[in-house]
Amino acid sequence: MPDLGRSDFDRLMMPNYNPAGFVPVRGQGSRVLDSDGAEYVDLAGGIATTALGHAHPELVAVLVEQAGALWHMSNAFVNEPSLRLAESLISRTFESRVFFSNSGGEANEAAFKLARRYASDHHGPEKHELISFSGSFHGRTLFTVSVGGKELYTQGFGPLPGGITHLPFNDVAALEASVGPQTCAVVLEPIQGEGGVVPATAEFIQAARRLCDENEALLVFDEVQSGVGRTGTLYAFQQFGVQPDILTTAKALGNGIPVAATIAIPRVAASLVVGTHGSTYGGNPLACTVANRVLELIDTPEVRAGVLERHGRVVERLLEIDREGFFGEVRGMGLLIGAQLRPEFAGKAKSIQVAALEAGVLCLVAGPDVIRFAPSLIIPMADLELGLDRFEQAFAGATSGWESA
Ligand SMILES: *Cc1c(COP(=O)(O)O)cnc(C)c1O
Repeated sequence: MPDLGRSDFDRLMMPNYNPAGFVPVRGQGSRVLDSDGAEYVDLAGGIATTALGHAHPELVAVLVEQAGALWHMSNAFVNEPSLRLAESLISRTFESRVFFSNSGGEANEAAFKLARRYASDHHGPEKHELISFSGSFHGRTLFTVSVGGKELYTQGFGPLPGGITHLPFNDVAALEASVGPQTCAVVLEPIQGEGGVVPATAEFIQAARRLCDENEALLVFDEVQSGVGRTGTLYAFQQFGVQPDILTTAKALGNGIPVAATIAIPRVAASLVVGTHGSTYGGNPLACTVANRVLELIDTPEVRAGVLERHGRVVERLLEIDREGFFGEVRGMGLLIGAQLRPEFAGKAKSIQVAALEAGVLCLVAGPDVIRFAPSLIIPMADLELGLDRFEQAFAGATSGWESA
């Protein structure tokens, strides 16, 4: 037993989290051990972060090697791993320039600031409206939480940054009615993660691109969760055939090591002139070394095919497990899968997640009504089946006594 555990949390930590009762101490692939030696199957993939599983030997090796060489200097110097990572991201996405930071929220903060700065440089300060969507999540800084589509997250933090308009997601008519000469950028997740695992429709994404072009506004895709192979292509936008002007990526990019990138087409990137923005740790050689290997390992035809195969299996088993039809819908892309409870069971996702924990399987929720699965992209099929067996057992227990209307 470690000396400190869950019972010490409340006296030491700010109360903004409510962690589980057990303490994970080791991870190997898609299995996690707690301090009592109990073992869990990780169908959460950290939190859509550890896309190559825990303690991947090649990532451990490059991390240890770089740890013995150089951890950090500052952005007063270049370092080879960050330049290599920029080159890798550009070659795998589109012609662009890269800004590195440490988290999804920071990558989006940079994206939104850059969009404002670009509009101010080229059109003047009136063109400052950011359009985003209900259900969206972009991070927890004051700007990103204000752009995000969940009012609960901004309550009590005012005054909030202005010039932000929220529209319903996937509503082409609302978008057509709102984007105008005042619009600086339209910001969206190609598949909303935290908001309930809701894919954008192709028509919606295409309309956003067209309206941005017609109004000289920028299209920003937040792929912090959907990126780095999660949906079956390296980035989800590559399946929609629509290229953004600014792309953000984080979570799985470092497989758990904090690293994030904001990627912008050169004409837009040019507005972030010397001194306009920065990050002490952004682009540090330690994190970039890991991210370089993550991209090499994930961006392969084998991993892509494996994600699609696993997607099919998870969806198939969830539909089998839910014999009673408590889920209204199982949806998602690749290994970002959501099971939405029917309206009569609204608010009960957490109770299923807790039962799953007790049965030895980690999954996520996405809001009060959706169970979310975001396992490692290379989870062994046997681990996937074992995790779903345990989920089946937990689901049967948690829903016993529920009655469909
Ligand atoms: C997790 C997430 C963020 C925030 O990332 P942090 O690393 O927690 O700052 C932003 N956008 C999306 C879509 C996310 O899923």
